[in-house]
Amino acid sequence: MLKAADPFWAAVESYGVNQVFVLTEWVAEKAQDIQQKTPKGVISEMNELRESVAGCRKCSLGATRKNIVFGEGNPEAGILVIGEGPGATEDETGIPFTGRSGKLLDKIFLSIGLNRKLLFIANIVKCRPPNNRTPSSAEAEICGKFLTRQIEIMKPEVILTLGASAARYILNTKMGIGALRGDFHSYGDIPVMVTYHPAALLRSPALKRPVWEDMKKLKVFLDKACLPRTTGGGEE
Ligand code: URA
Repeated sequence: MLKAADPFWAAVESYGVNQVFVLTEWVAEKAQDIQQKTPKGVISEMNELRESVAGCRKCSLGATRKNIVFGEGNPEAGILVIGEGPGATEDETGIPFTGRSGKLLDKIFLSIGLNRKLLFIANIVKCRPPNNRTPSSAEAEICGKFLTRQIEIMKPEVILTLGASAARYILNTKMGIGALRGDFHSYGDIPVMVTYHPAALLRSPALKRPVWEDMKKLKVFLDKACLPRTTGGGEE
């Protein structure tokens, strides 16, 4: 049964869903299996790119950051999640989505049988914009080159964007998130599901329903595509 005391599950339950079967042990086991099969080539290319990001001072965000937030997870799992940019907690830790919205994001992942080791999370910009402002289009353009390279290395089979900035950047559109969410779009030949940012859900709980709908569609896609990938390239 759902844990109604938890805000995300309570929201899911309020839509008439009263049972979601997620074996957390199974999710963890699967994550470990994928990790063991990840080809070293992808990892070393990602590590090289991480070094370039760490040395980057191409925009003013590089001067005020404490840490770069390169991304986290398994780059070989085939699922890439993209947010906007680091906030204060992420700037401190160097890990994406470690604040309140990150905790909610983990619950959203778990509701469709995922955890952070079964996907990769990155942002449009790798350094924190002061006062958590939206990255400027120039900053997104400069830093987006790193994201483009991450995509080339990972070759994800699906992308999930969180919030308007990520969706607009990836889909190269000015359309609103309300019109974009809930459907698959494309980045080259990679399907892109657009949904709201978890921070928006914290401000407006009514958005939990559409996000749950989006996650159900994504889950159908993942199941059909046999994602996350469990057949990595093996040891080199
Ligand atoms: N919001 C984002 O978009 N990304 C993070 O890493 C944290 C908060």
